[in-house]
Amino acid sequence: MKTAIDTHTPRAWIGCLACYNEGRLVGEWFDAITADEVTPETLHGESAVAEAHDELWVMDHENIPVSGEMSPEEAAAWGRAFADVDEYHRAAVFAWVQSGDYIAEGTGDLPSIPDFEERYCGQWSDFDEYARNLADEIGLLDGIPEEIERYFDWDPWIRDLHFDYTECDDPEGGVFVFRIM
Ligand SMILES: [Zn+2]
Repeated sequence: MKTAIDTHTPRAWIGCLACYNEGRLVGEWFDAITADEVTPETLHGESAVAEAHDELWVMDHENIPVSGEMSPEEAAAWGRAFADVDEYHRAAVFAWVQSGDYIAEGTGDLPSIPDFEERYCGQWSDFDEYARNLADEIGLLDGIPEEIERYFDWDPWIRDLHFDYTECDDPEGGVFVFRIM
């Protein structure tokens, strides 16, 4: 059974670089969307040490589909991008970005959500299931008598259809299907 825990909210572990260079890990997890509001005081309290410790850095993150460290501003941008996505679509956006075959917004790595919404065709157990459902929707075999319909050769039809689509694995099983525009 699925739990109600939201596993798709981008989060960032923001640490103090000066502390890090002194061999101490001082930092905390934050929702990425607030990453650019975190101040040295947030991490150190209102102490004198904070003044010399003014450089913050995202040393770890989760639910941000790129690897490596980043600035708090970058993490916040990812947080905002995902906040624009319906919660039940977040896993699909995540997989889309991770596939590398996605539409970025502007010049960065952030995904274009309008492009995602235009292309996303849902989560299916495999591409065949999507294709057969589509055939139903467009009435591909409407009007063809059943005794003839069962001789329809699905394989080449689905293979041709597939040229217009990409799919990304859903880590929880099945695939996310995207239309190539
Ligand atoms: Zn520090």
